[in-house]
Amino acid sequence: SLTIGIVGLPNVGKSTLFNALTRNNVLAANYPFATIEPNVGVVGLPDPRLATLAEIFSSEKILPAPVSFVDIAGLVRGASKGQGRGNAFLANIRDASAICQVVRAFSDPNVVHVDGKVSPADDIETINTELILADLQTLEKAVPRLEKEARLKKDRAGIAAAAAAAAKLLDTGVTLYVGAEKAGIDLDELRELHLLTTKPFLYVFNVDEDELGNADFLDELRALVAPAEAVFMDAKVESELIDLPEDEALELLESIGQSEPGLNQLIRVGFGTLGLQTYLTAGPKETRAWTVAVGATAPEAAGVIHTDFQRGFIKAEVVSFDDLVGAGSMSAAKAAGKVRIEGKDYVMRDGDVVEFRFNV
Ligand code: GDP
Repeated sequence: SLTIGIVGLPNVGKSTLFNALTRNNVLAANYPFATIEPNVGVVGLPDPRLATLAEIFSSEKILPAPVSFVDIAGLVRGASKGQGRGNAFLANIRDASAICQVVRAFSDPNVVHVDGKVSPADDIETINTELILADLQTLEKAVPRLEKEARLKKDRAGIAAAAAAAAKLLDTGVTLYVGAEKAGIDLDELRELHLLTTKPFLYVFNVDEDELGNADFLDELRALVAPAEAVFMDAKVESELIDLPEDEALELLESIGQSEPGLNQLIRVGFGTLGLQTYLTAGPKETRAWTVAVGATAPEAAGVIHTDFQRGFIKAEVVSFDDLVGAGSMSAAKAAGKVRIEGKDYVMRDGDVVEFRFNV
């Protein structure tokens, strides 16, 4: 499933945010997966369509699309040179699909900043540098080995060349995600090396609640990371939502000018950054959301449920969520001609409600 690695300097609010994320009622209500390991949590992609569908189909349960978060504590300036815990622990996010950096922008003088002053720009630079240095260390070991392999096996030439070019790019202080295309580096070639900076970055700015409405302030922060996505929240407020019933949580959010938890925004932005969307299945047993890449075909979408569904794909019965809700039931949608039979070339759309037909 989709996994987002959380990084950031100490004391910026990572654990506060992580705890809020994985224990938030408003967000994770009904979610069966819960916490797997102390630093891994699974939450459901917030999607109000699921409750509507579950009502139409009288579903017993709702299963949102899962999103995992891995909290990586301990990244400090100089980690690549062995400062703090060093950087070997970064291996814990090598399988993440995206890296979310938490940046301190709150002012509280009672919370010590590791570098002595609150400076989002400096912190972002520090973390990016450490991630780049971690990749350079991986490549320092890999390049000589790959070049040797390439001399023996032709099919290793691609990765050997890509790895050497990647090291060159990283040396200029540019991440692979940002610079690879322009440098003519094929990131697919590098996949087996699990390099951290090939992943998209997104940013959470942990701001004081009274700054959440300060558009100029937020724009300044956004400009630090553009074109990467930025989300703004007050981690302390987010953590206070945990134990509140939904209506009181929403009231608290409204009192600081927010219409939903910042965590919902984060998960949605993560989805968007990665070019993902969801389609839905519904029946009396469960209403469920499934994650697919934008552009995925019907058989590929079926394969997310089970590889056999992809192999044996015959056709898909598809109705858009809006058409289904407009009709009021599946039979009414069928009677109105809103349910389409789609073949193997059909490109999935977000919010498609689907039933697959397949050979086993
Ligand atoms: P981590 O080291 O990045 O995991 O940071 P923590 O989540 O442990 O937070 C460090 C300290 O900052 C704790 O005392 C938190 O209560 C405090 N803190 C976290 N987020 C906020 C915030 O948004 N505002 C304020 N004022 N304090 C915060």
